[in-house]
Amino acid sequence: MANEFAIIEQYFSTIGKPMEDTVLGIGDDAAVVDIPQDQQLVVSMDTLISGTHFPPDTSPADIAYKALAVNLSDLAAMGASPAWFLLSLTLEESDDRWLTQFANGLKQAADLFGLQLIGGDTCKGKLAISIQIAGYVPRDRFVTRGGAAVGDIILVTGELGNAALGLAQRKGEVELPETLRERCTLALNRPQPRLELVPFLRECASSAIDISDGLVGDLRHILDASACGARIARGALPVNAWIEQHDCYDYALEGGDDYQICCTVTASRLAEIERWNREHPDCRLTAIGEITGSGYSLSDGDQLVDLAQRQGYRHFD
Ligand code: ADP
Ligand code: MG
Repeated sequence: MANEFAIIEQYFSTIGKPMEDTVLGIGDDAAVVDIPQDQQLVVSMDTLISGTHFPPDTSPADIAYKALAVNLSDLAAMGASPAWFLLSLTLEESDDRWLTQFANGLKQAADLFGLQLIGGDTCKGKLAISIQIAGYVPRDRFVTRGGAAVGDIILVTGELGNAALGLAQRKGEVELPETLRERCTLALNRPQPRLELVPFLRECASSAIDISDGLVGDLRHILDASACGARIARGALPVNAWIEQHDCYDYALEGGDDYQICCTVTASRLAEIERWNREHPDCRLTAIGEITGSGYSLSDGDQLVDLAQRQGYRHFD
């Protein structure tokens, strides 16, 4: 059993590639970093709590990977490139096997996405993982939820609903075919932050958000921040064939944990969207609707469903 100082030294002192900008990393009272000239720092923080954000029997490597990935997704949605992160780890006990696997999952994600762990905090309590992340964006090129305008096209990356379907499978609520089961389990445990979309967002997007709490609730944040409405089309939603066949689009509309990006782009950028899709088959953008002056609805054949009252995931309801 290691104490907190031994835990930090053994498991967390070398995660991610050392950055040029790190003046002082782990080991002092605080870290010191330089910010590159003409860039701005974009910071965010996300916490995962056992039983709320992941089932308690999730593998430690998956928990660590997901904790970093969900934070990276927030940076991507702002149009920022990752730089460094801090880890606050609350543990019920100091279990070497658990810590080894957790550190491995964290290292895998940090190496894959190219950022360094430069500090944190370690204490005892109910299992919770909190990560503070920072990235850079060229001055004033960040993207917010607040810039959507009437006539803009609403786009999403990837497939929607896979993570929620993975969770439903895990709970025994659905029985998925083998290959889809793997895809959905991966979407749930190893979400892929859409960092590759950052150049497109900086160049083309009027607004963006990452879909962590379900499309309907998260797109609503864009509408609130931009003071506009939207109409999306059910038939346009990018979903897997199983959702389509079983007609259960609620996984895609309301299911959380997708970590895809929803963004808006003026219609004059259509050619850029097409070019993006030709050049980035793994990060395709699908047009799902249009920004309107007011209202929030889903067209489904010749029916119009009002989305105004539908909510995304909320912690305190
Ligand atoms: P203090 O008591 O002064 O806050 P700590 O013992 O908490 O110091 O931290 C010592 C050093 O270890 C600091 O550089 C801190 O950022 C780092 N650290 C603590 N916990 C973690 C962790 N879980 N991951 C990474 N670095 C950590
Ligand atoms: Mg401390």
